Amino acid sequence: MCIFAMRELPPTAGLPLHWRDLLPRRGDADLEARLHPVLGIDDLQVTCSGTAALVIALTTLSRNSPCSEVIVPAYTCPLVAMAVSHCGLRLRVCDLQRDGLELDPDMLSSLCGPRTLAIVPTHLGGRVVDIGAAIKCAARSGAWVIEDAAQALGARHADGTPVGMLGDIGFYSLAAGKGLTMYEGGLLVSRHPELREQMRVVANELAPTQHLWELRRSIELLGYAAFYRPRQLQWVYGMPLRRALSRQDFEAAAGDSYPTRIPLHRVGHWRRAVAARAALRLPAHLSALEQQARRRIAQLQRIPGVEVIGDAPGAQGVWPLLMLRMRHGSSRDAVLARLWGAGVGLGIPFAHALPDYAALQDVIPKAAVPNARDFAARVLAISNTPWLDYATFMRIVEVIGQA
Ligand SMILES: *Cc1c(COP(=O)(O)O)cnc(C)c1O
Repeated sequence: MCIFAMRELPPTAGLPLHWRDLLPRRGDADLEARLHPVLGIDDLQVTCSGTAALVIALTTLSRNSPCSEVIVPAYTCPLVAMAVSHCGLRLRVCDLQRDGLELDPDMLSSLCGPRTLAIVPTHLGGRVVDIGAAIKCAARSGAWVIEDAAQALGARHADGTPVGMLGDIGFYSLAAGKGLTMYEGGLLVSRHPELREQMRVVANELAPTQHLWELRRSIELLGYAAFYRPRQLQWVYGMPLRRALSRQDFEAAAGDSYPTRIPLHRVGHWRRAVAARAALRLPAHLSALEQQARRRIAQLQRIPGVEVIGDAPGAQGVWPLLMLRMRHGSSRDAVLARLWGAGVGLGIPFAHALPDYAALQDVIPKAAVPNARDFAARVLAISNTPWLDYATFMRIVEVIGQA
């Protein structure tokens, strides 16, 4: 039942487009230069998705190395697993720390060895994790660290380093709803100049210009401009969500997708320019989200049995959504039963721990990942969109409190 009829809030705080973004001017084409002062990274590589960025990174690394295993967290975007499999590499799933988002250090050291090509820690939902253990393990076995910062554009580690630049390689997603968007897009970064050079060469080879894909994404970006607003989102997001929930398809409801093929192509000038134009508003957007998050976290922390997930000590995350861990899976499910699909921007980041996706059985090995499963069962995500007004937020707080 839709209790807030007509208004549909997005699950994350994407940056809405203005109509004038669609008519970019000369100078807007240089998205990389526009983002330099915002991110503090002067050499960015634009890709057609975050997944494509990971494919380009892994392909580059595996051309230089006989190693074939990639370690990923057991609770992350299924597209990460698809990218590893696309590259013909072997996926190793590492559990999370108990009550944390970091990779479990014991399991990580047992997985990491002479066959390890890369470790891919995730800054889930804008939360900055400590990647120290991953860097140590990687150094010991000659592997690389790739930071999955898909949802963390603008975040910084405790020492001020932008996420993605403390490991060897990092990537951001510019998909719809992840913040700044080109409908589908990504950014690839590395602190090693020679890797940046090689990744550009690999991208030219793997991801050539494909006019039909670019046309499709351009139309989708126009659709985003038209529909990414509370009165329109029900048509493209709310209704499919409620249909998925009514057939108990929680993977579709959470927005988990696993396409059979990963599109790889160049991003055209117009979409880059639209994103560059919107990027002028990114710093103000990020700081408004942070202020709203601080106030709302204070409210949520007053609810007994609820823990708001924060950043590693000293780190500066970004706030597309607020993630909570409830004491019991049953109370989490009770909140979902009342508010998921109610148009208020409440849901879960991903449906399961990676080994529990039936459709990905061939790609993801079975693994004992009790902490990731426990997290998947107790996590709740509340959109931090500015469209979620205080009264509606307090209603969500009330429902969580009752559960
Ligand atoms: C969205 C996401 C990706 C993939 O990015 P796309 O741009 O959608 O391909 C990878 N990792 C995480 C954690 C994500 O949320």
